[in-house]
Amino acid sequence: MRRIFVHAFGCQMNAHEGERLLGLARDHGYQEALSAEEADLIVLHTCAVRDHAVQRIIGEVGRLTSLKRQRPRLKIGVTGCVAQADGAALLARARGLDFVVGTRAVGRLPSTLRRVDAGERVVDVADGAYLEVGDGPIRSATTCAYVTAVEGCDKFCTFCIVPYTRGREYSRPAAHILDEVRRLAATGCREVTLLGQTVNAYGRKGGGRGEGEVSFAELLRQVAAVDGITRVRFLTSHPSHLGDDLIEAMATTPEICPHLPLPLQSGSDRMLAAMRRGYTVAEYLERAAAVRAALPELALLSDFIVGFPGESDADFEQTVAVVGELRLAGLYGFKYSPRPHTKAAPLGDPIPESVKAERLEQILALQRQIAAEHNQALLGSRQEILVEEASDGWVEGRTRTNRRLRAAAVAAPGELLQVRVSGIDHGRLVGTTETAP
Ligand code: SF4
Repeated sequence: MRRIFVHAFGCQMNAHEGERLLGLARDHGYQEALSAEEADLIVLHTCAVRDHAVQRIIGEVGRLTSLKRQRPRLKIGVTGCVAQADGAALLARARGLDFVVGTRAVGRLPSTLRRVDAGERVVDVADGAYLEVGDGPIRSATTCAYVTAVEGCDKFCTFCIVPYTRGREYSRPAAHILDEVRRLAATGCREVTLLGQTVNAYGRKGGGRGEGEVSFAELLRQVAAVDGITRVRFLTSHPSHLGDDLIEAMATTPEICPHLPLPLQSGSDRMLAAMRRGYTVAEYLERAAAVRAALPELALLSDFIVGFPGESDADFEQTVAVVGELRLAGLYGFKYSPRPHTKAAPLGDPIPESVKAERLEQILALQRQIAAEHNQALLGSRQEILVEEASDGWVEGRTRTNRRLRAAAVAAPGELLQVRVSGIDHGRLVGTTETAP
């Protein structure tokens, strides 16, 4: 049997798509290889969010191409966002590459592989339907799993390449999602994270919200009710779709964790309008306050972009003020850089790199201070962890608010433990186990 190795770059969504690719390949006769060195087919599943993504991928293909000298039958392919955005140009620039398959063409991977076997170099970036993986993705972890709920995005924020690389928003039918969750639970999975670029837009387009379909709030409740599932998370949410029904589901369903990544992007309404985010700062703050009122222990996380074209000192000061006010559990900050195809690309990148770097460091430093205060407040508190790793009398897992916590205990992966937080080691909580209440 031939073997495939998938190297997935980028975010959790991309990592999970790598698992889906492995599942699709298995459905078509491939077995997973544990390293590139033992594979007959190497797939680089790419991410276009970071700068210089294409150059990095071309460099990586060049390195892998040297393996073809010892193994002439080895095939190399590129999938994902860079494949979708750069298609034929990528194949032309990377001579060792056998195929380039875009995000929406993944369903045609088997026919692409047949053409490659026949000696063709293939580019397929045409649109195609979302393809369910027959026996499910091949996952590396058993206790916690990512499950796709929404694919693509219709928002077209002016800085973002995702709608161009991943296509339009599509919600998987609830029945398919629930089937996958039930199969996961039967094999020992206890925590499910529903994924989507705008996951809480679930049900607007595609399989969701047809006859007999459900809202996102109801989908969360149904996933939480699957026998064996003890925790449910979801990422990433869009502030415009954070309705009261979703907040109520979070507050009244114990399995849904009080953990909410909710990107704001800027503290300036002028910048939010230029980014075409579809909400104001006041609207975001109102939604954040509503969800905190319902779930006082909520861990709210957010993303910010600094140095978007036209961002003045005054705009940036408003971002600093809102970071101080939100007291987030986590902040992901990025320096703006233009992406091809996007609405903002023609504006160039007028803010000097040094100014962007200073602004980013300013909000990150403020967040470090807030995080240190959050950590202090956690000392002595009791936290529930879901054990993910266990060895030599130690266990490690995450709290309901998604903090990593390590404790001396004998337990098996999948168990829930009560732990008293006794210290912090390099940002990771440590504690001692307690008996259940
Ligand atoms: S909501 Fe905006 S930032 Fe998020 S994926 Fe869609 S276009 Fe990109």
